Amino acid sequence: EANEALATQATTDGLTGLRNFRFFQQQLRTELLRSRRLNNPVSLLMIDVDNFKLYNDRNGHPAGDQILIEVSAIIRRRLRATDVSCRYGGEEFAVLLLDTPKRAAASVAGELRSLVEDFAFPDRERQPSGRLTISIGVATFPDDAKDAQSLLKGADDALYRAKALGRNRVEQAEPSPPIIVER
Ligand code: GH3
Ligand code: MG
Ligand code: MG
Repeated sequence: EANEALATQATTDGLTGLRNFRFFQQQLRTELLRSRRLNNPVSLLMIDVDNFKLYNDRNGHPAGDQILIEVSAIIRRRLRATDVSCRYGGEEFAVLLLDTPKRAAASVAGELRSLVEDFAFPDRERQPSGRLTISIGVATFPDDAKDAQSLLKGADDALYRAKALGRNRVEQAEPSPPIIVER
């Protein structure tokens, strides 16, 4: 039991109680192997808090920490026990949705986005939109990517697009286009 507690501690983020980056990297690779074998899709959400630097600057770092704890709780409440949610770094979260195709993943992401938008975070009215919001990039294996690295890149590029298009949005990875040979 003591060993198990230690192992859990080593793979858990101290602030939010979500899994840490290291655990996530391992699990991602394990789940993609399983997915290939069983032919089940796996989706990845990359989640980033919008204008979080501004929130910290205006309300202080400890208040910012409380936001990260609450956002994590919202994510955890909405997901299945078998899904893997992690604090990827700073104010970024990554979620692996097992056995979940593209459309279902986009719908979960939309729900998370809306749950956060509707949550009465303290001092959210001082944010640019009057709300505390998140942006999400979604990518699905094997539809959008053939390995862990390109799945991460697909979700990350989609997240970047969600930011560029104005934040508080969900964007899906674009499957790589077919190569057109001119002749
Ligand atoms: P964007 O909408 O483009 O994501 O803007 P942003 O301000 O959220 O992004 P930026 O990357 O400029 O700032 C991220 C901020 O997150 C800066 C950093 O101070 C804050 N941050 C990172 N880790 C923590 C943490 O553990 N606690 C707190 N309170 N803030 C953190
Ligand atoms: Mg960020
Ligand atoms: Mg951010």
